[in-house]
Formats: sequence, C-alpha cells, structure tokens
Amino acid sequence: MATCPVCGATVDEAAVRATTGFTAHGASESDPTKGTRQFHDGKWVYFDSLECRGKFLTSPETYTRPS
Ligand SMILES: [Zn+2]
Repeated sequence: MATCPVCGATVDEAAVRATTGFTAHGASESDPTKGTRQFHDGKWVYFDSLECRGKFLTSPETYTRPS
C-alpha cells in the first residue's frame, strides 16, 4: 500500500492503476473513489482523492520529504 502524502491515508496502488488512464505527463483521468496518482520528480506519487492530488500539485514541496 502507498500512503497519500497530503493526508496520510493509505492508497491501494493496484486499484489506482486498474481504474485510471494516464498520459506521459501525469494523471489526466481517474476514479476519485479509488484514488489517483501523479508522476512527480521521477516517481509515482499516490493519492486517495483528487482533492489531495490538487493540494499536492499546488505546492509539492510542502508534501515531499527527502528520504
Ligand atoms: Zn489524501
């Protein structure tokens, strides 16, 4: 399971991959009930909702932590 960087909820990556369509530039469509994802800084970031993805895209530096 992945973790939403915005709210900390768990996200089922398999469900997200199964229910969403993406372009090379990131998510363009999704089922908000199944979560969504965004390609950011070389890796996929998973979100539990479009609202969280929107917050992340507004200021990704707020939610990304060096690991
Ligand atoms: Zn979230």
